[in-house]
Amino acid sequence: MLKQDQGIGMTSQRTRDRMITRLKAQGITDERVLDVMKMLPRHLFMNDDVLASRAYEDTPLAIGYNQTISQPYTVAKMTEIVLATKIPVRRVLEIGTGSGYQAAVLSMLIDRVFSVERIAPLQNQARERFYQMKLNNIRLKHSDGSWGWEEHGPYDAIIVTAAPEEIPQNLLDQLAPQGRLVIPVGDKNNQTLRVIDRADGHYEETVIETVSFVPLLAGQA
Ligand code: SAH
Repeated sequence: MLKQDQGIGMTSQRTRDRMITRLKAQGITDERVLDVMKMLPRHLFMNDDVLASRAYEDTPLAIGYNQTISQPYTVAKMTEIVLATKIPVRRVLEIGTGSGYQAAVLSMLIDRVFSVERIAPLQNQARERFYQMKLNNIRLKHSDGSWGWEEHGPYDAIIVTAAPEEIPQNLLDQLAPQGRLVIPVGDKNNQTLRVIDRADGHYEETVIETVSFVPLLAGQA
């Protein structure tokens, strides 16, 4: 167990167990996802102790640079959807590394995780966390994720954790046959989580639910 993970109170296993009970009540059923989120110390993805004490609340929290770590329910839901792709998911691309929490969850379930982040200091913090936690199947790139990461594609699944107003064509192009894109789409006031499955010669889109992500921004910072 990690040294920082031996804390008591809000950062204890019991707090994480309560989060799992809540996720189940919210409709998360995939045991693989629940097991990983039960194990992974979410508080270590927070930048200060005050926020770490709130890490298991079901709310998005600030991670600096005007960005947020997604609430546990959203991470669980998106991961569940990724794992339900028609083909086995061995390679996944994430756009928006942020704190690194979503990528860490994926890395415990999927062979290879690629993640792109446009804000360099956030990427560096995430890299350090993965190193400390010995999560060494995650590769990071500092770039505008709307371009995807062509070099390592195609991907069995792509998960986007910031919302564009329109789905970037590059991401669709980098999906493997029968692959799946999970992406929030829309502006600040009107966003829905969508699933796009690459079928033979066309794409099938399903709208999941209303969500609220930070915007997918152009360029690097
Ligand atoms: N998955 C993250 C959620 C972070 S919030 C986590 O688990 O913590 C969304 C992230 O997307 C932010 O870090 C933001 O900087 C990043 N982002 C926004 N637009 C982007 C773009 N065009 N390319 C790559 N990352 C982007």
